Amino acid sequence: MKVDIDKKNQEKEILIDTSKMSKGQRDALELTESARDEVKEKDSFIGQLFMGKADFESIFPFPEPEPEKLAEGLPFLNKLKTFLEEHVDADEIDRTGEIPENVIKMLAEMGAFAIKVPKKYGGLGLCQTIYSRAAMLLGTHCGNLTALLSAHQSIGVPQPLLLFGTEEQKAKYLPRFSRGDISAFALTEAGVGSDPSKMETHAEPTEDGKHFLLNGEKLWCTNGTKAGVIIVMASTPPKRIKGKERKQVTAFIVETNSPGLEVKQRCYFMGLKALYNGVMSFKNVKIPIENIVLGEGKGLKVALSTLNTGRLTLPAACTGMTRECIRINKKWSNERRQWGNNIGKHAAIAEKISKMTAQLFAMESMVLLTSALVDRKEGDIRLEAAMCKMWGTEKAWNVVDETMQIRGGRGYETADSQKSRGEDPIPVERFMRDCRINTIFEGSSEIMRLFLAREALDPHLSIAGAALNSKLPPATRIQSVVKSALFYSIWYPKMWMPSTDRIPEVHKRLYAPLKYVSKTSRKLARTLFHAMVLNGPKLEKKQPLLARYVEIGTELFVITASVLRADSLIKRDREGSNHQELIDLVYYITKESKIEIGKRFEALNNNNDSESYKIAQGVLNGEYDALLKRI
Ligand SMILES: Cc1cc2nc3c(=O)[nH]c(=O)nc-3n(C[C@H](O)[C@H](O)[C@H](O)COP(=O)(O)OP(=O)(O)OC[C@H]3O[C@@H](n4cnc5c(N)ncnc54)[C@H](O)[C@@H]3O)c2cc1C
Repeated sequence: MKVDIDKKNQEKEILIDTSKMSKGQRDALELTESARDEVKEKDSFIGQLFMGKADFESIFPFPEPEPEKLAEGLPFLNKLKTFLEEHVDADEIDRTGEIPENVIKMLAEMGAFAIKVPKKYGGLGLCQTIYSRAAMLLGTHCGNLTALLSAHQSIGVPQPLLLFGTEEQKAKYLPRFSRGDISAFALTEAGVGSDPSKMETHAEPTEDGKHFLLNGEKLWCTNGTKAGVIIVMASTPPKRIKGKERKQVTAFIVETNSPGLEVKQRCYFMGLKALYNGVMSFKNVKIPIENIVLGEGKGLKVALSTLNTGRLTLPAACTGMTRECIRINKKWSNERRQWGNNIGKHAAIAEKISKMTAQLFAMESMVLLTSALVDRKEGDIRLEAAMCKMWGTEKAWNVVDETMQIRGGRGYETADSQKSRGEDPIPVERFMRDCRINTIFEGSSEIMRLFLAREALDPHLSIAGAALNSKLPPATRIQSVVKSALFYSIWYPKMWMPSTDRIPEVHKRLYAPLKYVSKTSRKLARTLFHAMVLNGPKLEKKQPLLARYVEIGTELFVITASVLRADSLIKRDREGSNHQELIDLVYYITKESKIEIGKRFEALNNNNDSESYKIAQGVLNGEYDALLKRI
């Protein structure tokens, strides 16, 4: 194992020049880099897109899980839908800040705490696609239930155990979840949000080597106040690797009834009022070494890998909420008359409705495509999942905001208050409160952009990183220059030539959008390359610039997923309808994305980035304090 780590870190050191970074930056980067798995570009549709190749073949026809897997999941989805409609009062849960015990009990009885847990451990053994569809249903109804089930099995103990657990760990814990035991994921601390290198919770081995003693405090642990068992990331003694001291983070399974473990506080938020979220404190909590997941020092890898798939649940739930918003808007825009017409006939409102409908289709297509890739267990979905999370949660926030606008004053009013006047209680303000957190947790939008940018640049860093790294000996740099010259002399001219990507046999009206994706991926690749050459290691600091590349790539994924899904839906329909409505929607999505892409390309060279940074630093340094005086 040591050799493995040594080799990995050696490679990472060659990739990124950390010589001009502050210690804090270097620590954060080195730690996350050491936990990072290489995205194999050929295995990732998005990875290739950033290198100028649209490999549609790898995701055509629109990926679906095996029909038996889908059929197996349908009874559960139907049961869940009926249960949510008949037994869950989301407004009551929001009002009281508690999920009724019988709701939790009934969810446990239907296996909702072990959706992906294999049958041999008593779970439902369902696939990721069904799990994502369950999240869509939950998102339609109740943010609190979504958070309870998702924190438990998207990031809580079941997911890391399914990924990395030993047979003993699986046999011991997974059946508990099948019976309804709740779990949680504890990474965040007061000083550790997006940057785990400052982790203070630590675990020291006992003298006999059989246990670790855990000390510290974790913040905002969702389900922490209800969980029977949690997964805790803690720093463990550093190791010397290649002569350098390396921080270690280890993942421990911790029973919440362990002596020394205390829930110090239940935390309350703007929305998700019934979140069982707490501050967890650990004082000499004794954990057997068998409870380490994957191995000492592998905790960050456990956390990041868990989040890679786990964070798909949030955009899936956002899809459900978006669907519900459109249902609300459909009814309201048809019945509310102002200025002599239904408000849906006013173009300003109509525009909002079409935009959110297109976003629903795109969001759902991206989530289903990525979920099916998870089910196929082929390729690498990290970039797709990150794009789903980033784009889906941001668009869902726009949707709920516009829904509030369409509902006017009633959008801002609580459901209870509407009800007390005898009106339909429509909980848009609850949706808004519950939805806002989605762009913050499980990888904030900013961190998703950084993550995607890092991976987009990875092939270039692998080829040319050493040439740009001033820390490396001249011989290594020269070797890298030769290697890069060889590669780029072939690759770069290709990026200016007409694309040779094979466009799959989609419905004839859907060909043009894919052709556009293919052509634009070349422009994306060559302009990203230009940025790398022009900026060298400084590119890492130019976050708004990098974000534009990430957003262009994401819009290309939006078009691709929407086109392929529409094609699949059209082909599946044996009635032979012309599906004009789907084609219209896909054209609309493509045009919207093209507009967004056009803006980003334009802003690569025409932007306010340096002025913006200067002003922000001025504000932070007190240069604008006169403006900030209250009187
Ligand atoms: C309701 C709720 C539930 C939660 N549940 C859990 C849970 O179950 N388990 C758990 O471990 N944690 C949980 N969290 C924590 C959550 O994941 C963090 O809030 C999140 O990771 C962000 O960390 P932070 O709030 O400390 O923000 P910070 O990391 O301090 O970031 C502040 C801002 O700076 C931005 N930022 C940070 N670094 C960079 C950078 N390098 N470049 C550009 N921008 C940057 C961020 O995007 C953000 O906008 C929960 C939080 C909440 C509010």
